[in-house]
Amino acid sequence: MYQAKAYSVASATAQFTPQSIPRRATTERDVQIEILFCGICHSDLHTARDEWHSIMPTTYPCVPGHEIVGRVTEVGSAVTKFKAGDLVGVGCLVDSDHSCPSCQANLEQFCPGSTFTYNSPDQHGTAPVTYGGYSESIVVDESFVLRVPKNLELAGVAPLLCAGITTYSPIRRWGDLKGKKVGVVGLGGLGHMGVKFAHAFGAHVVVFTTSPGKREAALKLGAHDVIVSSDPEQMKQHAGTFNFILDTIAADHDINAYINMLGLEGNITLVGAPETPLKLSAFALIFGRKSISGSLIGGLKETQEMLDFCGEHNITSDVEVIPVQKINEAYERMVKSDVRYRFSIDMASLKEE
Ligand code: NAP
Ligand code: ZN
Repeated sequence: MYQAKAYSVASATAQFTPQSIPRRATTERDVQIEILFCGICHSDLHTARDEWHSIMPTTYPCVPGHEIVGRVTEVGSAVTKFKAGDLVGVGCLVDSDHSCPSCQANLEQFCPGSTFTYNSPDQHGTAPVTYGGYSESIVVDESFVLRVPKNLELAGVAPLLCAGITTYSPIRRWGDLKGKKVGVVGLGGLGHMGVKFAHAFGAHVVVFTTSPGKREAALKLGAHDVIVSSDPEQMKQHAGTFNFILDTIAADHDINAYINMLGLEGNITLVGAPETPLKLSAFALIFGRKSISGSLIGGLKETQEMLDFCGEHNITSDVEVIPVQKINEAYERMVKSDVRYRFSIDMASLKEE
C-alpha cells in the first residue's frame, strides 16, 4: 500500500480539500497509472453532495472522478495488455465478477458485482470505498483499463471515458441514424458529446437547450438546429417530428414536453439522473406508441470501440482545463450550466500541494 495525493470532500456540504489516500500495491493483474487529466462529471457532484442518497448513499471521505487518462507507471507480473509508458484511460468501472450473464455479454456495467471507480465497496480492502480520479495515481485491474488513441489531445480525451461512452452507447444502439431526426436535450458535458456522435453517424441533430446563449456553439458542434425549450412557439414547430431523443438533463424537468416532440414509435432515452423522480404522463406515450428508456455508461468492449472511433474521426470533448485547486469553483459553475462543455483537471497541479 502507498499514499497518494488527492482532493476529497468530508461531507455533503464540505468543500474539496487536499488529502492523502491509500492506494493498493500493484498486484499480479494490476496496472498503476499516473493520472494526467480527470474530467468533472455531473455525477461527481451528485455523489459529492449525496444527492443520490436514496439510491447510492455516499461514504465520506469521497474522492470522485471517473474520466481518467494517464500514463502507466508499473504493471503486475501477469499483465499482458499494457506496459510502463502506455497512455491509458479508466472510466466508471474498476471491477466486476467477470462471470455473470451481463459480464459475458460485455455489459459489465450491469454486473451485480461491479465496482464503480469511486464510492463502491473496495473489494481489495484498501479503504472502505473506492477512490476516484481526483488524485495523482490509481491502481486498476488491467481488464478495466482502456487504450487511448495517440493522436488525440489528452485533456479532451478524459471526458470520453464517461460523457463519451454514455452518449455513444444509446446513440449506437438506436441503429442507423442516417437522415433521422435526433434531439439532444441539455448541452452540457454529456449533451455536447451526444451532438458530436449523432452528427458523426449522419443524423439531423437538433439541440434542446435552456441557454439561448449556447445556440452558435451548438451549431459549431454539429447541430443542424437549436430549440430554446422555454419558448413554446419553437417547441410547437417541431412537435411530433423526432425519431430519437437523448435526454441528458441533470435536474427535475418536464419529460412530457420532450415526449411530445417524438413522432410515431419514437424513443426518448434518459441518461441524465436527476435526484428526484420525473412525472410521466401515460397519454404522452400511448398516443403514437412511443417509448422511454434509460442507458447506463457502456461496457468495456464498447468503451474501447468508442475511443477507437474517436481516434479515427478526431473527436474529443471541448474542455476548459483547470488546476485541481479550482474544483469547488468548477462545481458552482457546473450547477449554473456555465461550462463549455466539460472541466478537465490538469493533475500536474496536484504536485503543488
Ligand atoms: P452538465 O454538464 O451539468 O450538463 C447538464 C445540462 O443539462 C446543462 O448543461 C443544461 O444544458 C441542462 N440543464 C441543467 N439544469 C437544467 C434544468 N433545471 N432544466 C433543464 N435543463 C437543465 O451534466 P453532465 O455531466 O452532462 O451530466 C448530465 C446528467 O447525466 C447528470 O445527472 C449525470 O449524473 C448523468 N450521467 C448519467 C450517466 C449514465 O450512465 N446514465 C453517465 C454520466 C452522467 P442547457 O444549458 O443546454 O439547458
Ligand atoms: Zn460520469
